[in-house]
Amino acid sequence: MRYISSRGGIDPLSFSQAVMMGLATDGGLLLPEQIPTVPAATLRQWASWPFTSLASEIVALFVGDDIPRNHLDDLVQRSYRHFTHAAITPVIWAGGRPILELFHGPTLAFKDVALQLLGNLFEYLLQRDGGRLNILGATSGDTGSAAIHGVRGKAGIHIFMIHPHQRVSPVQERQMTSVLDDNVHNIAICGTFDDGQRIVKDLFNDLAFRQKYHLGAVNSINWARILAQIVYYFHAWGQVTGGDASRPVTFSVPTGNFGDIFAGYMAQRMGLPIERLILATNCNDILTRFMRTGSYQTGTVQPTISPSMDIQVSSNFERFLFYLLDQDGALVRQRMNQFHTQGQFSVNADQLQQANRIFTARAVSEQQTLEQMRQLYQTTGYISDPHTAVGLAAAAEWPEAICLATAHPAKFAAAVQQAIGHDPDQPPPLQGLMAGDTRCTILPAETNAIRAHMVDTLASL
Ligand SMILES: *Cc1c(COP(=O)(O)O)cnc(C)c1O
Repeated sequence: MRYISSRGGIDPLSFSQAVMMGLATDGGLLLPEQIPTVPAATLRQWASWPFTSLASEIVALFVGDDIPRNHLDDLVQRSYRHFTHAAITPVIWAGGRPILELFHGPTLAFKDVALQLLGNLFEYLLQRDGGRLNILGATSGDTGSAAIHGVRGKAGIHIFMIHPHQRVSPVQERQMTSVLDDNVHNIAICGTFDDGQRIVKDLFNDLAFRQKYHLGAVNSINWARILAQIVYYFHAWGQVTGGDASRPVTFSVPTGNFGDIFAGYMAQRMGLPIERLILATNCNDILTRFMRTGSYQTGTVQPTISPSMDIQVSSNFERFLFYLLDQDGALVRQRMNQFHTQGQFSVNADQLQQANRIFTARAVSEQQTLEQMRQLYQTTGYISDPHTAVGLAAAAEWPEAICLATAHPAKFAAAVQQAIGHDPDQPPPLQGLMAGDTRCTILPAETNAIRAHMVDTLASL
């Protein structure tokens, strides 16, 4: 399997090269040259398979002969052994509603499904091909902890994760700073998340530093993250239909960067019988507005109780655009340039209709989110986190839609308290989290201070 850029400006890459490159060098996003398809007979067989067997099979379709199958199987097994539910991604029923729980990994958010695999892939490829990787990122909370837990203790990798000092929740802070592995370096800056992002950008733009120190990123644009997420759409379909290929399903997906829902789109193109993908946003609704008007136009970010979806530029949307524009890389590049300079581009009526054939978008208000949490709890006893509730509320007209639960409610206890009047139970990964040792370096929000700290830290190892 070879990989190409959504902007058409690179020579095809192997799977390994695509994983290590992250963002394509022409500024585009990497995609497989062809989408493999799965025949109905195979789908039926897969329906009863455990998650890890399914993951090996699906990942192998996209890896080709780049990684030997026995190595891949081992890598997949190791990636999901820290999940606390035997089914890894179980479908549970709350009243009549199927809910796909994706939060049984080490940091209690769905990002673990992808980042546990990505960490092992990085380690494997660095050991096989030689080299080192120093991951640098800025986080407002969730992605940082999932990334840290994905690469902790991995050979050849260091991770430097910047968060705004005392501006992430105490649980989020502890999920990062309580990881004491030698290769994990938490930095709290005296500033905001935006300062953190600016510093990261500055350091990636310092090409001499970037090359000398082998800087890498783990943001949501890495192809391997999408790939890992495709698996649970197949797994959920099997659990709900028992493999009846004549039974198409609908998924409702709480969406920010369009990564998770794009994985569902890929699953559908591979042949999984998906009738509809409900694209659920909070009031940060750039994607909902696009699906209504055909105009992709950024707005200002409003803080909400579902903060991991407070996004007004969806980094993975370009992948879908590539298919919507008939895989014309030059056209994608032109549209994205227009977006960059004018903050907006549009697709035509045919293309909009095509997008709406598979996606149905709904924006959900704060009030509706809280009401959804309250109502589900009162009628079924099920406590959902606010991100999951956005997806549940968006699916109100489709009672059979499988709703993706993207975070454990205990991660967002304040919103749960507000909705139902008490705190959710603490799952094992959070018990004892607030006690115990932590490690973190507090630094001024200045690029030079972070650069010097990285140089000193790496020299002292
Ligand atoms: C990241 C995140 C989302 C949004 O996922 P995207 O792939 O960015 O669309 C939704 N819910 C939670 C809890 C998240 O952490």
